[in-house]
Amino acid sequence: MTFHASILTLYPDMFPGPLGHSLAGRALERGDWACETVQIRDFATDRHKTVDDTPAGGGAGMVLRADVLARAIDHASPAGDNRPRLLMSPRGKPLDQSRVRQLASGTGAILVCGRFEGVDQRVIEGRDLEEVSIGDYILSGGEVAATVLLDAIVRLLPGVMGNAESGAHESFENGLLEHPQYTRPAEWEGRTIPAILTSGNHAKVAEWQRQQSLSLTRRRRPDLLDDNAPNEGEDDCS
Ligand code: SAH
Repeated sequence: MTFHASILTLYPDMFPGPLGHSLAGRALERGDWACETVQIRDFATDRHKTVDDTPAGGGAGMVLRADVLARAIDHASPAGDNRPRLLMSPRGKPLDQSRVRQLASGTGAILVCGRFEGVDQRVIEGRDLEEVSIGDYILSGGEVAATVLLDAIVRLLPGVMGNAESGAHESFENGLLEHPQYTRPAEWEGRTIPAILTSGNHAKVAEWQRQQSLSLTRRRRPDLLDDNAPNEGEDDCS
């Protein structure tokens, strides 16, 4: 089954962008996912193809018009299309790996990329848009946020990652940050690889990695841990 993304944007040339490369790019070529762009400006009706106007109540910047955006959404997502309609927005629920997994298990998504000061509130309500944030900072437009969201989704689609195993061990997948990684050479600038990793004892390696994950998470992201997480025998890596 192909995951079908429809991206509503004033800058369709920004897609697939980075998603046309590497794993996501090859998956796109194979047809594991599809990336359709819809130019919001095509749905403006006046001679100047106006998509925005000044904010009601005054203030700086411009606001994307509800009527124009709604026509673009109705075109991309006609009645019967059950894909979730997402609006990239700093006011949205912060994106996390569990929402990414949920989206990746569906048939696709409509991604609306805001610009200017944002979009008219009435189209958010009238077209049932779910606001999704990629973090507590302000971007100049939703395109980079949509690219982030799609990258996270596409790598989870069946067949996209060469080694299906590696997906399950990433940071956040088990509620923890990932343990440190090493590779050859065995010694670099006087720094060696922790001996346990080259011991060949898989049980010990797994235990070391779990302890490292726990201690890293406790130090850097205590918010990810619930109060009952074990802390005995943790061994700091740095
Ligand atoms: N005035 C708005 C910000 C507008 S930024 C506010 O203060 O909330 C312009 C557009 O960039 C937004 O409509 C949104 O689509 C996108 N954007 C900016 N920051 C984002 C973020 N952290 N996550 C997702 N989208 C974002």
